[in-house]
Amino acid sequence: MMSAVTNLKETAEAIPFYKPNGSEVELFERAWRNTLPLLIKGPTGCGKTRFVAHMAARLGLPLYTVACHDDLTAADLVGRHLIANGETVWCDGPLTRAVREGGICYLDEVVEARKDTTVVLHPLADDRRILPIDRTGELLEAHPSFMLVVSYNPGYQNFLKGMKPSTRQRFVSLSFDFPATLQEEAILMGETGIDPMTAKRLVSIAQAFRALRDHDLEEVASTRLLVYAATLIKDGCEPALACHAALVETLTDDPDTAAALDEVIEATF
Ligand code: ADP
Repeated sequence: MMSAVTNLKETAEAIPFYKPNGSEVELFERAWRNTLPLLIKGPTGCGKTRFVAHMAARLGLPLYTVACHDDLTAADLVGRHLIANGETVWCDGPLTRAVREGGICYLDEVVEARKDTTVVLHPLADDRRILPIDRTGELLEAHPSFMLVVSYNPGYQNFLKGMKPSTRQRFVSLSFDFPATLQEEAILMGETGIDPMTAKRLVSIAQAFRALRDHDLEEVASTRLLVYAATLIKDGCEPALACHAALVETLTDDPDTAAALDEVIEATF
């Protein structure tokens, strides 16, 4: 269903704030200049989507973001015939639009999509750079500025949903992780305007929580959740309450684990 696709076109008016963590900006630009597709791996909430939005704006390219899910089909990406005023009209999907216009198509959590999507992605992701549109008989050659970017979270990978080597081997790959301490503090300050001491405390709480991964917590505190906590604090919320709501309750349903996490917070603030 078309409506299930988050189809976001962003313009280059404002460049979204992004704090680099390594050489990812340079690598992205090189990949784009050389028409190479890019795969970004990393846990949820670590900055992948923000990075792509930042790069699209920086390069002045339209961005089409698609959050992939298990019902997403090739037609959702490529397009379909729609009936309007009794007439059948062809409507380009987000991938086709990016291919025609020379934009970036970003497929978030690509391994979630149905397998038939690989049929359209393969010829686009290698040096052919073509998109065959079966339903219209069109064979589109990608605009020189077109770039395919996909992401996935290796932590969620399972045998059924892993990325096939034949797909994977068509991409230049970048691995993302949570930002280093000073970077993450700068992100919280840049995103929310909180003071350096509060940013320091929030990052230290996140790091303590991250150390509990696989023991008491299945999910770790993402930068996104820290931004939420910082936003509440900036709004005047009591810090321990903000952390409880944005971090503890979001990360666990277990009362004992929650109490242990709250202790870490109380000891920090
Ligand atoms: P992902 O796509 O990896 O799930 P996002 O890109 O949506 O994560 O990041 C979640 C939030 O974390 C962003 O909205 C932003 O507030 C913040 N963030 C994470 N990393 C960065 C960064 N390097 N620079 C700026 N903001 C960041």
